[in-house]
Amino acid sequence: MTNFRFNAIERVLKREAINVKSLKKRSEHFGKKVFNFNTMRQYVTANAVEEVLEAIKSRKTIKESTADLIALGMKEWAISKGVTHYTHWFQSLTGATAEKHDAFLQILDSGLAIEQFEGIQLIQQEPEASSYPSGSVRNTFEARGYSAWDPSSPAFIYGTTLCIPTIFVSYTGEALDYKTPLLRSIHRVDEASVAVCKYFDKNVKRVEAFLGWEQEFYLIDRALVNARPDLLLTGRTLVGQSAAKDYQINDNYFGTIPNRVMSFLRDLEDQCIALGVPVKTRHNESAPNQFELAPIFEEANLSVDHNALVMDVMDKVAERHFFKVLFHEKPFEHLNGSGKHNNWSLSTNTGINLLKPGKTPMGNLQFLTFFINTIKAVRDYESLLRASIASASNDLRLGTNDAPPNIISVFIGEKLTKVLLQLEKVTKGKLSPEEKTDLKLNVIGKIPEILLDNTDRNRTSPFAFTGNKFEFRAVGSKASCSNPMMVLNTIVAKQLIDFKAEVDLLIEKQDLPKDDAIFNVLRDYINDCKPILYDGNSYNENWEKEAKKRKLSNSTNTPEALKAILLPKYISLFESLNVMTEQEIKARLEIDLKDYVKRLQIEGRVLSELVLNHIIPSAVTYQNQLLKNVKDLQLIFPEDYQLHAKSQLELIASISNHLRVVKTEMDIMVQARKKANAVESLQNKAIMYCNSVRTRFEDIRYHSDKLELIVDDKLWTIPKYRELLYTK
Ligand code: ADP
Ligand code: MG
Repeated sequence: MTNFRFNAIERVLKREAINVKSLKKRSEHFGKKVFNFNTMRQYVTANAVEEVLEAIKSRKTIKESTADLIALGMKEWAISKGVTHYTHWFQSLTGATAEKHDAFLQILDSGLAIEQFEGIQLIQQEPEASSYPSGSVRNTFEARGYSAWDPSSPAFIYGTTLCIPTIFVSYTGEALDYKTPLLRSIHRVDEASVAVCKYFDKNVKRVEAFLGWEQEFYLIDRALVNARPDLLLTGRTLVGQSAAKDYQINDNYFGTIPNRVMSFLRDLEDQCIALGVPVKTRHNESAPNQFELAPIFEEANLSVDHNALVMDVMDKVAERHFFKVLFHEKPFEHLNGSGKHNNWSLSTNTGINLLKPGKTPMGNLQFLTFFINTIKAVRDYESLLRASIASASNDLRLGTNDAPPNIISVFIGEKLTKVLLQLEKVTKGKLSPEEKTDLKLNVIGKIPEILLDNTDRNRTSPFAFTGNKFEFRAVGSKASCSNPMMVLNTIVAKQLIDFKAEVDLLIEKQDLPKDDAIFNVLRDYINDCKPILYDGNSYNENWEKEAKKRKLSNSTNTPEALKAILLPKYISLFESLNVMTEQEIKARLEIDLKDYVKRLQIEGRVLSELVLNHIIPSAVTYQNQLLKNVKDLQLIFPEDYQLHAKSQLELIASISNHLRVVKTEMDIMVQARKKANAVESLQNKAIMYCNSVRTRFEDIRYHSDKLELIVDDKLWTIPKYRELLYTK
């Protein structure tokens, strides 16, 4: 009998590492496939380059005549590298990067064939918008959308195509992508930060948000994935008894990377280097076959694009190495999930990281200002941050195996907590010269020393201060960074605007010196922020109770988490800062809910298929073998066959029991699915999927996994956990 599972295992055992002709000196290859400013200078007039730089800086549009020059240079450069097509590359609301390739080739009336690429094609393209989801935006507004060049993220070559990063908007201007609101949020946090920086340094003209992501993923052999309908179609295992080894031996973190994986990683890194993605670290994660890849941090918009690109490159490179990358947040039960830590900071054009303590007391006051305002923003908008990372797959990760919990809190460490407690004692109103000197020398003056040994790291905190940046750890591995980054930039921008208004009021109305006003506002904030600060272990059983007392939200599933988005205070936040209109917010919510329902629908169907086509047949075949054995024993030992067949009879009964539950629960699940599908309201449909469909998965799995333990290994048709995770 041929069995898909054993064929797959056999293939895996025969595999060898794919030979990769590695780049010798990576620095020489860095950005070779990118039309960055250095390359642009070789192909385009100096004036045109300056105009693009200026347009990016001042966020103005680029003249068409300049765009023509840039397009011409881009085309020449791309053709010299074997490129035949171009595409507007954007992140549609499904999270996937969308492309429609157009050839440079053009046939003129005279019959002459030429390569053509002009400014207008660089600036704008009309992809077939109806195939991308847009919530209800399109119904209400325009039927078509267009993509528009984002010059702040450089064009690059992917395969034989020139990819031009773009935004994607409807004809009436509604964002149909992730990048548009992200860019708006980046502008808002820039403006708001610059205004606050002026208290400390008049020369600050621009503040950029930076992002350094850490991408976690599992790498599993293709043949094994192909033999598992659940992994193939849902990205996670819906059934499967966990391998005996799992957590008993934690020998993976920073352990040696297996050869085949090493070869994959080298290949991947080479591709990333050529694409200008500065990948820096790679290591084993704590679970078997789980890894992490992280680049050096970059400007947030570019970094978000790079993450989307790298995820795509990973898929392609994995194919070459007969692997499949699992980006799902929880592919394996009882094993660590995968996250995408978003390290975030703000830096000025004068080169100051605003989240890094300075060298002078004044620099430190600036640091504290941004530090405390960020915490205050998280405090006021915690449920919005939770909503920004909600997805069916991240639901399975949050709150399990050392992943951050569903409750958003901020970790700052013992030393900084002490600083805040001291600042809280600052006098209300005007400060005496002695108090000011004392503050400068003994409190804020001491911060750099404190941070040098601020090594206490809390790995389970969803939002942690790690020395010179905040690390948003609750973000899921599969998600685009753009949504959480957009929300973070927006809430911090709003907070900084409010802060400035309060400080200015104290200066004008109460005649307080600037520093005194700042100290006064920060002092009040520290008190406001207390409920969100938590340094303890998120798995402490008292934390949930404590968080409830502190009135922190604790949404354990996506439909519940997403409800927050419609709170009037959140809608007015986005509207007042021109990051998203109510229409855009609602459209996104609709897409997120639809995605949630769709994922659970697919999981439900695949689970039924597994049960009916794999688990029940395997279990019944084995049970028949046992039955035959019992009958035969009865022939030989007519008197006391029950004694001889005791174990067999027990197993037969046990199989029957598990089969009954599996099938009954599955039938209930199918009915629940039908009922949910008939529900009109999307919100209610999602809730039903969450509460009456998903809840059945667990029991089905439990009993199926028991059957896996009982049934003859030869008869089991889908690869087991130990094979997926330990076959090298
Ligand atoms: P880990 O969280 O695994 O301990 P690190 O704390 O060393 O890792 O840093 C992880 C990430 O933080 C890296 O990807 C790095 O690029 C990013 N990072 C470092 N400094 C900054 C910064 N100022 N702003 C944003 N990201 C940063
Ligand atoms: Mg990290």
